[in-house]
Amino acid sequence: MRQYNAAKAKHPGCLLFFRLGDFFEMFYEDAVTASQALDITLTKRRDRQGKPIPMCGVPVHAADGYLAKLLQRGHRVAICDQVENPKQAGGRLVRREVVRVLSPGTAIDPGLLRAGENNYLAAVWEKRGTAGVAYADVSTGEFRTTEIPSGEVRDMVEAIRAKEILRADGQRLLDLDDDSRDDATMPPSMVTKVESWAFEPDYGQRLLQETFRLHNLAGLGLDGRPLCVAAAGALVHYLRETQRTALPHLSPPVFSGRKDWMVLDPLTVRHLELFDPLYQQTSTTLLFALDRTTTSMGARLLRSRLLRPSLDQQEIEERLEAVESLCRSTIVRSELKRELTPLYDIERLLARVTLGSAGPREVFNLGSSLTRIPGIRGFVSELHGRRAQAILDRLDDLDDVSGQILATLVPDPPATLGDGSAIADGVDAELDELRTIQRDSRRILAELEQRERSDTGIETLKVRYNNVFGYFIEVSRANLAKVPDHYERKQTLVNAERFATRELKELEAKVLAAEEQIGARVGAVFEGLRQDIAAQAQRIRRSAGAIAEADVLRCLAEVAVESDYSRPRFSDRGEIHIEAGRHAVVERILEDASGERFIENDVYLDSGDHRLAVITGPNMGGKSTYLRQVALVAVMAQMGSFVPARKAVLPLIDRIFTRIGASDSLAKGRSTFMVEMTETAQIIHLATDRSLILLDEVGRGTSTYDGLAIAWAVAEHLLEEVRAKTLFATHYHELTALEDHHSGIVNLHVSAKKAGDKLVFLRRIQPGSADRSYGIEVAQLAGLPKSVLERAKHVLAQHEQSAGGIRGAEGSGQASGQETIFGQLPRPIEEELRNLNIAMLSPLEALSLLYEWQTAIEA
Ligand code: ATP
Repeated sequence: MRQYNAAKAKHPGCLLFFRLGDFFEMFYEDAVTASQALDITLTKRRDRQGKPIPMCGVPVHAADGYLAKLLQRGHRVAICDQVENPKQAGGRLVRREVVRVLSPGTAIDPGLLRAGENNYLAAVWEKRGTAGVAYADVSTGEFRTTEIPSGEVRDMVEAIRAKEILRADGQRLLDLDDDSRDDATMPPSMVTKVESWAFEPDYGQRLLQETFRLHNLAGLGLDGRPLCVAAAGALVHYLRETQRTALPHLSPPVFSGRKDWMVLDPLTVRHLELFDPLYQQTSTTLLFALDRTTTSMGARLLRSRLLRPSLDQQEIEERLEAVESLCRSTIVRSELKRELTPLYDIERLLARVTLGSAGPREVFNLGSSLTRIPGIRGFVSELHGRRAQAILDRLDDLDDVSGQILATLVPDPPATLGDGSAIADGVDAELDELRTIQRDSRRILAELEQRERSDTGIETLKVRYNNVFGYFIEVSRANLAKVPDHYERKQTLVNAERFATRELKELEAKVLAAEEQIGARVGAVFEGLRQDIAAQAQRIRRSAGAIAEADVLRCLAEVAVESDYSRPRFSDRGEIHIEAGRHAVVERILEDASGERFIENDVYLDSGDHRLAVITGPNMGGKSTYLRQVALVAVMAQMGSFVPARKAVLPLIDRIFTRIGASDSLAKGRSTFMVEMTETAQIIHLATDRSLILLDEVGRGTSTYDGLAIAWAVAEHLLEEVRAKTLFATHYHELTALEDHHSGIVNLHVSAKKAGDKLVFLRRIQPGSADRSYGIEVAQLAGLPKSVLERAKHVLAQHEQSAGGIRGAEGSGQASGQETIFGQLPRPIEEELRNLNIAMLSPLEALSLLYEWQTAIEA
């Protein structure tokens, strides 16, 4: 218990798995927590004073499953193992040490990881409003750093779905610790405090240079970026502390900045359904529509490209060039697929090898995957362009590594080293010799059994083995009379007796010694192989990265050909010009569900007269679909994919904003309207003239006039101040009047026509504004009772008659009460009103002015 308490004291905040023989035991509160989390029995053991100590345990051989469960529930576990052979301790207390600390951010167990997703551990260090963020996936070796405004840290860690975030003890990260934001999308990440000195930039620099054997950090783009160095240094520090081993598979942390990628905040990612469906069905996501990767490495890269579309035109063009080349060659495409399909997850296998967790089968799978690289290289070399060449440059055949693996291990080896059969014959002379001894002794044992049978005349006599008594001769009760005198009794059973002989004991000693030596030798040979592979970790990682890229490009080409996408072009004139564009996901769903054709639409926005489009039209008309398809085309193009359009000319968009629908966050004390306004405020503050903004209704959560007023003002601000390209879908038909007052605004509408009582959606986007929303007709489609519909029609008719009513402006195209508020006053009055110094007016003067204006308007 003294040993236990010492280890526990060094690892506060961890459940301590304490090795006792074949079990990992937990005590005190750990035992209570773990027994509940794992649903295992809580027992007791008494301390010296006879006080009961709660305790529970799991068998060592089954520990992985239990560990996975604990990590999944957000626990951290320290493994305190026996670090010497109990036999060598000879009665002394066996030495035990914490050999590894596991936490959700450092998981490498396949049971804990999703194949197509990264498992990031992030570290954040903040100073004066800027944060350095480092993030690494221990299970693949990826390691990156970036610098962002402090206020966006939370978005960032949410976007990459970091499982664990490291921050300096004592540094309160407002954005992370502030719980008031809406985080319904994501389970919270585990926040781990690390000693603040580990975030010192000087320490970080030394640690990074030493770990990655670098003279300086300039090559990583980290020169003059102390925040990133601090975060990356602390991350490496934490990994060293918890993994207790070198991490040769970890790549050096490369810096990429805000200017390198299109920013998609979690809200936009959610609204555009890039990864997760808004309503359960995964088939509604863009990832689902695009993901034809056949390897997990490719799937992860595709996901990260989707999350971070590039802003580097040359990079994008290189990717597109490779996709185009693959589109042209059906044979290379399909052959490459055939080569890639059987590959195992090289990156994750490598991580498990370097961290000492991989068994022989995993190592074998790594080796067999590497043997396919020359085949892959052959097909990639048939492609054109710089990107294809770059892949070839990174693809290393690695035949030395695969050769060594396949020569060392038997084909199809067992998952664990257990019985010592994993290492092939002929690899290690000592092992071969031991195996000969083992085989000989087994043969001699079989001969001994035969001889004893004939000597004693006991036909059923058996030589057997168990863990407690070792080898023994078993004779059934009926034959006991025939047992010779030199047999020594070892154990009595109900129906049999067990004996030993001197010869058997000598043989036993030989067999067991050989077995133990074989176990040790096999372990040593395997460890040698592991170290040799680990020494080549960076070569293997580079090749795995190249394979991932080949897979992504091939996948994008496959989708492009199948779905008839075209290569987007980029222009620095700032225009978005899409001809016959489609929504990548809706078109598939429509076709699959009803065979219906998606109606193509054009889009034109620019930095001049077409900066903001107000889109009106019936409910269910296709406005939201239109908005989103523009954003998806931009995302796809900048990730390097072909796009669903006949032709697309695009600018490089720095960020996409979406304000879509309404959702309450009542638990966080924010109403529908509050959520909506917070989102709108964010857009106004953060958007630039290179951004694309989708507004799918603004101001619906409050009274009509308040909402309309806000929507109007927001549109004007975006147009004049922000100058971002904006698509604004709305049922406030009054907003179409904006076009008359501002240059830069255009009205578009979705067409629909009434055929008798039925509403036919044409799904065509056309210039001009819609006359109505057909809300009542759509409500009818949704199944509202007839009586309610009739009543609604009646109320509507009444309101339309009275000027300034709820729908006064619709249909007539005339100025209504609502429009009058916004710029429809006669010019002289408006000017007089603007110039008025109210503070200098007496109430009487004000009244008389009002009277004058009223008379003027009425006249
Ligand atoms: P509301 O104003 O009620 O929110 P909306 O105008 O935004 O409606 P959408 O949600 O975009 O309408 O579209 C409704 C449905 O119409 C979509 O789910 C889709 O099935 C279909 N649709 C939209 N656009 C097209 C199109 N271009 N071609 C074919 N079907 C379409």
